[in-house]
Amino acid sequence: MNQEADQEQKSSSTLIRQVVEACADCDTCRFLMDESCLFFPELYRLYDREKQAGLPAAEKDLHRLADMCTLCGLCPCSDIRAGIIGAKIARVREKGLPLSARLLSDVETAGRWGCRFPGFFNTLFRVPGAAQTVKRMAGIARDRKLPGIPKENFFSWAARKGLNRNPGRQPKIAYFAGCTAAYLFPEVARAAVAVLEHNDIGVYVPPQRCCGMPTLLEGEKKRTDRRVKKNLKSLLDAAALGCDPVCSCPTCGFFMKVLLKEGAVYSDAYQKAVNAGTDEIRIPDSRPGKGGYTSLQKSMYGKILKDNPYFSGIDPLARIKLSEKISDTGQYMESLHQQGRLDPNPGRISGRMMYFAPCHQREQNIGSPYENLLALIPGLELSRVGGAMDCCGMGGSLGFKEGFHEKSIRLGRRLAEKIRAAAPEAIVTDCLSCRLQFRHLMPEIPVFHPLEILKKAYDKKEAKND
Ligand code: SF4
Ligand code: SF4
Repeated sequence: MNQEADQEQKSSSTLIRQVVEACADCDTCRFLMDESCLFFPELYRLYDREKQAGLPAAEKDLHRLADMCTLCGLCPCSDIRAGIIGAKIARVREKGLPLSARLLSDVETAGRWGCRFPGFFNTLFRVPGAAQTVKRMAGIARDRKLPGIPKENFFSWAARKGLNRNPGRQPKIAYFAGCTAAYLFPEVARAAVAVLEHNDIGVYVPPQRCCGMPTLLEGEKKRTDRRVKKNLKSLLDAAALGCDPVCSCPTCGFFMKVLLKEGAVYSDAYQKAVNAGTDEIRIPDSRPGKGGYTSLQKSMYGKILKDNPYFSGIDPLARIKLSEKISDTGQYMESLHQQGRLDPNPGRISGRMMYFAPCHQREQNIGSPYENLLALIPGLELSRVGGAMDCCGMGGSLGFKEGFHEKSIRLGRRLAEKIRAAAPEAIVTDCLSCRLQFRHLMPEIPVFHPLEILKKAYDKKEAKND
């Protein structure tokens, strides 16, 4: 029986219990993740209650626990994260997906509808009774502020500018905007286009769907698979035509660079492609003297080292290829800078701003490219806020949900207090989910994506040169 079939035999409660047992046995995250994640404090609370008071966790407690994981990637074990997602997938198989979870996890469909009638929805959200009805239907917390709907979404704008056609010149990128930028903050995606074009990079916006993270978080495997397959094809086709795939959303980047390829090297297709022997598992190893691979005995490790069951139906070689090809926009621009191909003299911006590196950016292991790029702007005083374990608390759609809103606010408060204490003129962060949380917690401080600041600085330079 393969791993996917094995997982399908187990109930969602059994799968999440396995995670609880494994983490209770290990105990590392009891203290390590105490203040950065909602999942582990709850896991140890349920476990301790069972051991000390003999009160086993009910099925609903286990499901609520699984919902507390936002796949931020901060905890040490990818197989634990896979176990949580496996439990959510099993739950959808057993019970289906509630309407509220479907509405909240499908930013793409909601965004497409919203952008058809932005005036209507914006007026509706301003009428308190109507806004509360919409929130109730979507399971959104009463006190959570809803973002406004822009007049034109990014994809319509890009089509109007002819960016949906592959530019004939080199160098060029295939830009993956992500749903939140495309449908809620199109000014961020337009800023990405502007700074790239300012540096003579041709921009192509290929056909694209939601990256799949929000639907995966709800355990909706089929919809996630469909979207991932479409994006893989579209971005790899564009790469074959000479475009470098680039994205500006750290969550989409984390999904495509890190999550999507987890376990793919253990697949039969990959092992065949690298000519592994019959009792061998080859793992890529770039250390000198290793010949590109470390070899392990398949008879000993074959049962543990397996492809991730939630993506095992998607071509593992394509998953690896995309993860190697796609870059974060900041990372791409920093590499242009290192090659001397970036305009290093943006215009002056006077101001004291704070940069927060979001978890999905940190987990891509790409350094801090935006801090280096923003350091090129004369007059800008940029300091960093937040350490490796700081979290805004939003967790994608989790912070919108009725049952988690308060916890999300509590989790983000520690970071908000650090920001308030420094009283910056603006907050800079590449995550639009953090932006929503910061705007909710600190409406008095404006929040920008680093690309918006860079665009402003290049605009100033161009205005001065006119
Ligand atoms: S996530 Fe990993 S390190 Fe943390 S408690 Fe669970 S098994 Fe241990
Ligand atoms: S991925 Fe993030 S939210 Fe999920 S258990 Fe790990 S640290 Fe917690």
